[in-house]
Amino acid sequence: MKVLVINCGSSSLKYQLIDMDNNNVLANGVAERIGLEDGILTHKQPGKDNVVFNENMPTHKEALQILVKALVDKEYGVISSLDEISAIGHRITTGGEKYNESIKATDEVIEGLKECSELAPLHIPGQVMGLLGCKEVFPGKEMVCVFDTSFHRTIPKQAYMYPIPYEYYEKYSIRKYGFHGISHQFVSQKVAELMNKDVKDLKVIVCHLGNGASISAVNKGECIENSMGFTPLDGLEMGTRSGSIDPSVIPFLCEKENKTPKEVEDILNKESGLLGVSGVSSDFRDITDAMEKGNERAKLAFDIFVYRVKTTIGAYTAAMNGVDCIAFTGGIGENSTDVRAAILKDMEFFGIDFDEEANNVRGKAQFITKPSSKTTCMVVPTNEELMIAKETINILK
Ligand code: ADP
Repeated sequence: MKVLVINCGSSSLKYQLIDMDNNNVLANGVAERIGLEDGILTHKQPGKDNVVFNENMPTHKEALQILVKALVDKEYGVISSLDEISAIGHRITTGGEKYNESIKATDEVIEGLKECSELAPLHIPGQVMGLLGCKEVFPGKEMVCVFDTSFHRTIPKQAYMYPIPYEYYEKYSIRKYGFHGISHQFVSQKVAELMNKDVKDLKVIVCHLGNGASISAVNKGECIENSMGFTPLDGLEMGTRSGSIDPSVIPFLCEKENKTPKEVEDILNKESGLLGVSGVSSDFRDITDAMEKGNERAKLAFDIFVYRVKTTIGAYTAAMNGVDCIAFTGGIGENSTDVRAAILKDMEFFGIDFDEEANNVRGKAQFITKPSSKTTCMVVPTNEELMIAKETINILK
């Protein structure tokens, strides 16, 4: 059985065709600059040369048409006809309060998603275009929406409600939603598998540290906390996002810099985080390089990042009355030995006996604490596409 996974941004479309009999990726790729000049789609097949299409794609539909051409091409294609694709799974950023579980992408659901776009205006419109495009390019094919928020549906009310007048929750559904749920779900399940335990017997903290970063507390397989909030701006320091700050900073900056709240929000989303503090880059590798050359602001950006992860781990350990495993994933979590060491050193109180040597690993599942460590720490590469494909099959069963 083969499942096509689609992940749309406003001007991009990433895809993966997965053979669910063995979890192998048959083909994957990305279409970029959708709706712009100089569109480009790069199609990859493991073990073969990449195929690049330099074609303009006015909408996501044209990107999907190129994708179909590539998949069934006589010379390098991986399937003989579209009939071989059993279903399509779509990654959707948020279902708001309307959709808190994966769901079949019926016309009604696609229409309903438009109501969620206020909560993720940069993401949902492109994802709706992807769904509508697929309906045309793959007529009659079953499709499922898998939400980045659904794994967080079990977060209890005291954790998801903000202490502001209750009517704003009732009127506008203002609350914490949490994000990166597909990754947090995948990694917490993988942790149980690697520890040879039932996820229902474990308290797990998943640190998804990438350009966007969030931490989840997963108690007995259920998510009870996530560091992102109403939007993905909350929580940790990120590539260009500030994470949590005192809300009073916003009107203060508006007045001092003569800016609108929207302009300040843009600064918090796009000019803050590692980039804003260091003045060097939003990319973690550039930060560590600059740090090694003695750049003090890069060092400060690094230290803030580490401090926020550490204190969030502390809070979530309190929320679960303990932690059995802390897992690191995402581009930084999987690859930065420095960041993991800085987070986990001096955490003996949490039962962490860090293993420096084992920590010298990149992009591969591995335990990074000593066998005697009361709390197990590990690196677990995430696989959001596989999680989406599995969810797609579950929903259609
Ligand atoms: P996104 O949120 O865009 O999916 P990723 O999970 O791909 O982000 O993570 C991107 C981040 O991972 C970047 O900051 C990048 O510098 C960092 N990263 C990737 N490889 C390494 C590495 N070897 N060492 C340190 N950081 C790395």
